[in-house]
Amino acid sequence: MSDEEARQTFRAIRWAGTDGEPVCPKCDCAACYAYASRPIFKCKACHAQFSVTSGTIFASRKLDLRDYLLAIALFVNGAKGMSALQLSRNLDCQYKTAFVMAHKLREAMAAETVDAKLSGEVEVDGAYFGGHIKPANVKSDRIDRRLAEHQTGKRRVVVIMRQREGRSLPFVFRSEDQSVPTIRARVESGTTVFADEAAGWDELHASYEMGRVNHSVNFVDELDNSTNWAESYFSRLRRAEIGTHHHISGRYLGSYAREMAWREDHRRQANGNQFAVLVAAASSHPVSRQWKGYWQKSAK
Ligand SMILES: [Zn+2]
Repeated sequence: MSDEEARQTFRAIRWAGTDGEPVCPKCDCAACYAYASRPIFKCKACHAQFSVTSGTIFASRKLDLRDYLLAIALFVNGAKGMSALQLSRNLDCQYKTAFVMAHKLREAMAAETVDAKLSGEVEVDGAYFGGHIKPANVKSDRIDRRLAEHQTGKRRVVVIMRQREGRSLPFVFRSEDQSVPTIRARVESGTTVFADEAAGWDELHASYEMGRVNHSVNFVDELDNSTNWAESYFSRLRRAEIGTHHHISGRYLGSYAREMAWREDHRRQANGNQFAVLVAAASSHPVSRQWKGYWQKSAK
């Protein structure tokens, strides 16, 4: 793909609402001049100059737009996620550049559901990540790691709210019961909520019609109560942890959890479609303060 082809591809997706005609990122004005000599535009209203990538996560001097589009194609292809190392090898760029780009893409994925609310039938479940303690070699030296892992202070629970046939919203907490206010904020009243027998979910009975399943007895009971949608989300997150990232640190657990939610929710779409969805999400997502100049900031 040439630079010009990459710009045209990106332009068509970014400004799909105006058939690819530029819209000023500063004032939303659709009347713009195009320069003949350079691939930039000038707004007739506020005179701002901008390029096809201005105001998006692609506004970077490190990589060509073409590399970004390739990165997105590679990124959506990795069902178990893609590590910054794999991405840097595939793009032939520095690890640091790939690391920031992957996180920017995760952020664009998460932006899709930032205001989402769930209704209908929603499954809620939690799973613990991080704070792993290696077992001692000699059996008599071993301790109960289930207790010890809580002591490292690094262990976190990912709580997923997943609407059946709908969106998945993961959040990170120190313990399951801390998630109840967030569940109330994101799951509309009138929803039927399905959860396992853990005591932390008892509080939800005050707000929702509940279907509880006792996992020590069965996974789908005679009333068809189950949390199978939540389980399949967690198996994807575990596969990402084991197969791709090896160790998901507490700091980025939320980013990876939201990435895997996006992948679950888009799993039935063809790759080409996922590519267009992520390019569109990334093109409408502003550069975040967290990742803008990340390595320069951390070097100080
Ligand atoms: Zn303008």
